[in-house]
Amino acid sequence: MAERLRGRAAVAQRRRRLQAEPLCRDCKSRDIITAATVPDHIVPLTQGGSDDDNNIRCLCADCHQARTAEQFGYRRRIEVNADGWPCA
Ligand SMILES: [Zn+2]
Repeated sequence: MAERLRGRAAVAQRRRRLQAEPLCRDCKSRDIITAATVPDHIVPLTQGGSDDDNNIRCLCADCHQARTAEQFGYRRRIEVNADGWPCA
């Protein structure tokens, strides 16, 4: 199993993914153009998802929050910092 990227490598990977998919996928599916700020795991790592590009979709903060609530079965307000990462 691949080791999760940390620090500088994780930042570079996140930037690369956002460049590859600069618009929020969920908004786009509703004909809304919103800049993506969060590369999201389609299948969460905690549920056996991989950290490969094909398990990543780029979302805006609002959609990411909605998706996360959906995936974990409850709604939870997640505070994110300026980079769009959860503070916790
Ligand atoms: Zn969105």
